[in-house]
Amino acid sequence: MKITFLGTGTSTGVPEIGCHCEVCRSRDPRDRRLRTSVLVETDGKRILLDCGPDFRWQMLKQGIEQLDAVLLSHEHYDHVSGLDDLRPFLYHHALKIYAEEDVVEAIRTRLPYAFREHLYPGVPQLNLQAVGLEAFDAAGIRVQPIRVMHGQLPILGFRIGAMAYLTDLKTLPESSYAHLKDLDILVLDALRHDSRHFSHEGVSEALQQIERIRPKRTYLIHMSHKIGLHRIVAEALPANVFLAYDGLEVQPV
Ligand SMILES: [Zn+2]
Ligand SMILES: [Zn+2]
Ligand SMILES: [Zn+2]
Repeated sequence: MKITFLGTGTSTGVPEIGCHCEVCRSRDPRDRRLRTSVLVETDGKRILLDCGPDFRWQMLKQGIEQLDAVLLSHEHYDHVSGLDDLRPFLYHHALKIYAEEDVVEAIRTRLPYAFREHLYPGVPQLNLQAVGLEAFDAAGIRVQPIRVMHGQLPILGFRIGAMAYLTDLKTLPESSYAHLKDLDILVLDALRHDSRHFSHEGVSEALQQIERIRPKRTYLIHMSHKIGLHRIVAEALPANVFLAYDGLEVQPV
């Protein structure tokens, strides 16, 4: 299995438009964050986790020409607004997109032209598949959905093999921890340094989750410019916790 971090930024991305803080001005490429998305490659299949506004550029940048399934965590713009750009992947290949029922409905409402009875030529033919909390197969790969609370909004995280992807997380219901045992790699939301945000963990909350879940390694994602400079923040983290950055590739051990 290989995990590629296509984007590690929050909904505004980093740098943030109009901001001149030291992070937004940084020349370290690790401080430049596209919107959060991860590619999981396993058993010859490529599964995309979330498909945000930077999706097209993320595919071009990484040279990705084939996808086998897309999993969506929730309906927010920074996780679904790249769906129309899936078109080149749909020409030769029936790609399925998995999300919860309410997310499927939200996508149908937002992209009505893709779901009319008489389709305008060239619109994306999105094959949306509603899933619940039961494990399912995406392109033959077993996926375990995990309930995540994004503030008051219930959304999905996903476990594939010994990795789990938990983005946009503030808390986890007790029942979710059963699916998070024996992880090699946890990919976990940590928006910024302080923990006062209503729907995202800060770094100290993320570290508490890590203490409870006990994965071998954790990579933090969905960061805003308020996380601080990568070089400095990364040094202060425990040995098995890392700040992810765009383009980073990791493999379970
Ligand atoms: Zn800034
Ligand atoms: Zn969100
Ligand atoms: Zn988000």
